[in-house]
Amino acid sequence: MGASETQRGSTAGRTGHGGIGTLELCNQENQDEVAMESHGETQASATSNAGLMIRLEELRELALARGADQAVVIPTSEVIVDPRVRLKCMIPKCYMSGACAHCPPHGSSFNETKDMVSRYEWAVFFRVLVDSSVIANEKAASIILSGVWDDGGKLSTLGGSYMLLASIVKVVQKRAEEMGYSPTFGFAAGDCRDLFCHYQPTCQSLQTRRGCRHPSLSSPSMESCGLDAFTMAARVGWDAYPIGGTCRPESVPHGALMGLVLVT
Ligand code: SF4
Repeated sequence: MGASETQRGSTAGRTGHGGIGTLELCNQENQDEVAMESHGETQASATSNAGLMIRLEELRELALARGADQAVVIPTSEVIVDPRVRLKCMIPKCYMSGACAHCPPHGSSFNETKDMVSRYEWAVFFRVLVDSSVIANEKAASIILSGVWDDGGKLSTLGGSYMLLASIVKVVQKRAEEMGYSPTFGFAAGDCRDLFCHYQPTCQSLQTRRGCRHPSLSSPSMESCGLDAFTMAARVGWDAYPIGGTCRPESVPHGALMGLVLVT
């Protein structure tokens, strides 16, 4: 009911009952006040929701402007946490499992991630496309382990794509926190040791009390925390292909790295 309808109803009530009792009149006036207050609250809430949506849209556009090929704002009810995703980092064991503070068995457990996601209502989800000839490279694992760049430059392109995704996570978090949404929480893809500590003997966060060398750059990956990026991508209409060590470039149209920022 709109404000004018409420007021019309109030007048009719008083006229119709012609002073039947003060209490009834007071009740009617109280109801009018409550209705008007509630209408005011509804308007305030709609305004604040509209403001929130505008700010979330700004964050989505920021992710696109910084290099994501797709970005969406999603309610956190669409953020899928599945313990099997995190287990896949350990069984069979990824070469980085246990070697980086953000990689399983370190980092956030399934329950911790679930709890954290439940404290937010909205998130920005985005992806960076990677050419299949770059990401579905049979030699990628051995090249990464050896630390020797391949002569075609594919590994540096792959590293650049992971770096791009990591930077979008941080840029979106920073802007969201400037908007007043703090703390935010961001997830990138892959391990941060190959990206930021490749030439260091160990992950400093694991070996000393000094913590991470690059806290303003590194984020845990979606997969290390049990976030099911593939199902989430499918639900927002993106094609995504699991790419293992034996995947050949011609068998997938492209690769995708996905990131997520929990905003508010
Ligand atoms: S950036 Fe380096 S020090 Fe920080 S968590 Fe990753 S590997 Fe460890």
